[in-house]
Amino acid sequence: MQAPSVGGIMLPRGNGATVRLSRGASLTDFAEKINANPASLVQVMLNLGEMVTATQSVSDETLQLLADEMNYVVEIVSPEEEDRELLESFDIEFGENEGGEEMLVSRPPVVTVMGHVDHGKTRLLDAIRKTNVVAGEAGGITQHIGAYQVTTQVNDEDRAITFIDTPGHEAFTAMRARGAKSTDIAILVVAANDGVMPQTIEALNHAKAADVPIVVAVNKIDVEGADPTKVRGQLTEYGLVAEEYGGDTMFVDISARQGTNIEELLEAVVLTADASLDLRANAEQDAQGIAIEAHLDRGRGAVATVLVQRGTLRVGETMVVGDAYGRVRAMLDDKGNHVEEAGPSTPVLVLGLTNVPGAGDNFLVVDEDRTARQIAEKRAARERNAAFAKRTRRVSMEDLDKVLKAGEIQQLNLIIKGDASGSVEALESSLLQLDVGEEVDIRVLHRGVGAVTESDINLATGSDAIVIGFNVRAEGRATQLAEREGVDVRYYSVIYQAIEEIEAALKGLLKPEYEEVELGTAEIREVFKSSKLGNIAGVLIRSGEVKRNTKARLIRDGKVVAEDLNIQGLRRFKDDVTEIREGFEGGINLGNYNDIKVDDVIATYEMREKPRG
Ligand code: GDP
Repeated sequence: MQAPSVGGIMLPRGNGATVRLSRGASLTDFAEKINANPASLVQVMLNLGEMVTATQSVSDETLQLLADEMNYVVEIVSPEEEDRELLESFDIEFGENEGGEEMLVSRPPVVTVMGHVDHGKTRLLDAIRKTNVVAGEAGGITQHIGAYQVTTQVNDEDRAITFIDTPGHEAFTAMRARGAKSTDIAILVVAANDGVMPQTIEALNHAKAADVPIVVAVNKIDVEGADPTKVRGQLTEYGLVAEEYGGDTMFVDISARQGTNIEELLEAVVLTADASLDLRANAEQDAQGIAIEAHLDRGRGAVATVLVQRGTLRVGETMVVGDAYGRVRAMLDDKGNHVEEAGPSTPVLVLGLTNVPGAGDNFLVVDEDRTARQIAEKRAARERNAAFAKRTRRVSMEDLDKVLKAGEIQQLNLIIKGDASGSVEALESSLLQLDVGEEVDIRVLHRGVGAVTESDINLATGSDAIVIGFNVRAEGRATQLAEREGVDVRYYSVIYQAIEEIEAALKGLLKPEYEEVELGTAEIREVFKSSKLGNIAGVLIRSGEVKRNTKARLIRDGKVVAEDLNIQGLRRFKDDVTEIREGFEGGINLGNYNDIKVDDVIATYEMREKPRG
């Protein structure tokens, strides 16, 4: 039997063998796994109707398609799974308490406040902080670090509760989507004057999906027309039945504005935790948890608020948070006090990281700096690939035709680094919205919070990208590297300025458009016949000026009779000249074109590049 081949290229045959590839892998990665030539895989894809380069990250579907064609079974490894494997390769297990039951001690519940917009989530979070200050906390709560801890007395016992300080289920869901479980209990805020609203249901469903018990805070009971009973009735339909009606959900009527029943709400949280959850953790092991918030601080560098979930985090330890790592230089609690250690369910602001991690990234303490760096670097590389895959617009066969006709797709590749995820996202979305015509495409290869690093420059080098630093600078040897590689790094501190410049750059990428500019008109007064040159027009320049070697058309009785002519010869008396101005006489030779008559008008023009508006 003949070996199967596609377009003259031998097709690797897998015979059903399994290939494991990470999300965002390239054809080269695939080729490496099956010991094939990457170019042959590019060819296979081309025959399947997709044009991809060997090193470009491709989508899950493309990998699947390719595998099917070659009779391989592809197994695409999810980022979470991959991360678990990565940590396992360093002998680290993430997410489990070490040791047996005897190692576990109880820990405070972590609470997220959810509910419909304007029902009082933010106000409630404020009220809870304040209640606690009144309860005698030293120093008062002044810092916003993304989470805070309060204590309340339940059955004569001091009990702590940790609140995630970003209200709403968006952050909660975003973290969950990344496989991070941040919350033990949800407080569902429902305004008693408004009742159950769409986002109330949404929040409720998210909490249920995450298997998180709910305490209902019926808010705004101070408002006239507030009907807490109605809220209880409404929520029954969604499976939240109040204790007083024989259910197991605690409802507390509160006024966030007046500070009514806040202690009761805290008590309900503690009682619900005790009744339905086993909140215990090993406080002795190396700390693990998640990042809640992170940003770049001008004075302090990368700072991240982390929530310790198990173990105890100490100053001086080495940690990895997402793709950031570093030795903990200092820790601050939610009151701005320096602390030396933080146990389970404690949020702390950590200083000393190399760069800014993302919210929802997990963190862990490792023994050696080297391990931390290796884990962080592997994660960063993976992120880059995945981001690349997501943002790459593939050229399909259908487009290919157009692309070939148009010559080439013009593309501006960008890498955006900024001081905070908010500004980076704002800049990215404004740039992606720039409309500069169909021929140009903006592609954001990578974006992130923190300084412009050597790895950004390397990525830019490999893909001809421009690097944008928004309120950040290059660090380490990135500047030298950029200079050596000829990478364009631009710094901005105002968003619109960045947008303006990029827009201008894009316009530069567009092919120039030309427009016709009239130069002058000449009226034919006489026609001379020359045996050598053909007919020569004796003219009077009526307007503008006529230049040699410019284009012309011939107009007779107001109609164009000839187009695309050339002013080949131009004379004044016996001399060749380059131009003749309005009001002067001269002779014009239109080259091979001889059909000229007295009273015809020669209109000359030039094609000029049109500035883009
Ligand atoms: P969020 O969108 O859920 O965070 O709602 P906010 O906390 O921003 O509150 C929305 C509005 O309701 C604000 O004007 C608050 O002052 C007001 N509000 C919040 N709680 C109460 C309350 O208990 N009573 C009254 N009367 N108004 C409240």
